[in-house]
Amino acid sequence: MKCFERLVKDHIVSRLPPTFDPYQFAYRPNRSTEDAISSALHLGLQHLEEKDTHVRMLFLDFSSEKQTVLFQVQELGAMGVMAMEVPEELGGAGMDYLAYSLAVEEMSRGCASTGCVVSVNNSLYIGPVLKFGTEEQKTEWITPFTTGEKVGCFALSEPGNGSDAGATSTVARQEGDEWVLNGTKAWITNSWDAAATVVFATTDKKLKHKGISAFLIPMPHPGLSLGKKEDKLGIKATSTANIILEDCRVPLGNMLGPRGAGFKIGMQTLDSGRIGIAAQALGIAQASLDCAADYAHKRIAFGAPIGKLQAVQFKLADMNVAVESARLLTWKAALLRDSKKPFTKEAAMAKLAASEAATFCSHQAIQVLGGMGYVSDMPAERHYRDARITEIYEGTSEIQRLVIAGQILKEYQA
Ligand SMILES: Cc1cc2nc3c(=O)[nH]c(=O)nc-3n(C[C@H](O)[C@H](O)[C@H](O)COP(=O)(O)OP(=O)(O)OC[C@H]3O[C@@H](n4cnc5c(N)ncnc54)[C@H](O)[C@@H]3O)c2cc1C
Repeated sequence: MKCFERLVKDHIVSRLPPTFDPYQFAYRPNRSTEDAISSALHLGLQHLEEKDTHVRMLFLDFSSEKQTVLFQVQELGAMGVMAMEVPEELGGAGMDYLAYSLAVEEMSRGCASTGCVVSVNNSLYIGPVLKFGTEEQKTEWITPFTTGEKVGCFALSEPGNGSDAGATSTVARQEGDEWVLNGTKAWITNSWDAAATVVFATTDKKLKHKGISAFLIPMPHPGLSLGKKEDKLGIKATSTANIILEDCRVPLGNMLGPRGAGFKIGMQTLDSGRIGIAAQALGIAQASLDCAADYAHKRIAFGAPIGKLQAVQFKLADMNVAVESARLLTWKAALLRDSKKPFTKEAAMAKLAASEAATFCSHQAIQVLGGMGYVSDMPAERHYRDARITEIYEGTSEIQRLVIAGQILKEYQA
């Protein structure tokens, strides 16, 4: 809480006009301070002039193709956003998932790569350790990852299976007081920058997904090597690579959760992670709308701003409907999770809606900008490239539909 308050005060409230009262932006009376600050953060930033949006602007420089986002990760750590849900006694910000989704959205509105790195560290790396780790594991594997000095990664996918995560072929065998891991994990975000990873491997292939376990491995580590950095369409300031395990040995105590619980750990981690990706997609969608609406005011065609043309107005309206409906779904999923209620279906719906909103809005933004949408002088082309991944990672849109349908059928069976 303290860290998040600092983020709001140092970077947002201090830059607002003196008359601005963050609490007046609370959505409903009797909200907690945390809720009010969350709303203020979100709405306050929406009402700021572009030149004042320090948090968002902080990340713009890092959206370049040549840098990774590690430098500002340290700054983010100081703000408390690298471990938002982690209790303060473990070094985190002690905030809830609603606050987390607001922060990821706002960062991604400036730079989707930053949103991705933050989301992976919070949801995919720290998330499972916080939920399934022992007290010793939490101290060892979470606290150093709260400050921005170190980032973690999550290694579930393999070259032969992404959507079909239960078909893991990476193997872990017990030898004395060690686990020995062999196999290749694919597409691992943060891998080149990470100081640790959660890895999924099977300890008993016959048991199929029930034979999968989760392991904590420091990086670098003997027997663990990295593949080449992938050359991607978007989120270019993140590192993505294979993690190759060749007789990689870790102590028995590095198993996360019980033996055979790995699939459950992976799926539950992704349920939460999808809220973060929905927030990332929302940031991209909102940035696309910002850029299109601004241009619609400034660009003159046929003697008037193009914003006067109904064809352009309809695009802006459709974009805003897509953004706002996805935002409500994302907040609903986050609030359900914060209230400790089931949220699997809502997280999948949020990710599906927000990622499709990002793709739709970034496509429309380029259309509104015309030729200027197609060149890198304006951010629209970057939003278009960044949006695409949100429909793929942490479960493709097809997999989200399967999850949603599965939940609906369960509800109607009851
Ligand atoms: C930039 C990037 C970063 C990533 N980061 C990570 C990471 O940090 N950690 C990690 O573990 N993974 C990561 N991934 C992997 C990502 O989660 C997978 O790419 C994704 O889950 C899809 O798996 P796949 O690529 O094997 O595609 P496939 O599973 O082969 O799917 C190919 C196509 O078939 C469709 N399909 C598959 N099964 C079904 C089905 N049952 N019903 C309907 N359609 C189906 C898919 O929707 C897709 O359209 C990342 C990927 C990328 C590109």
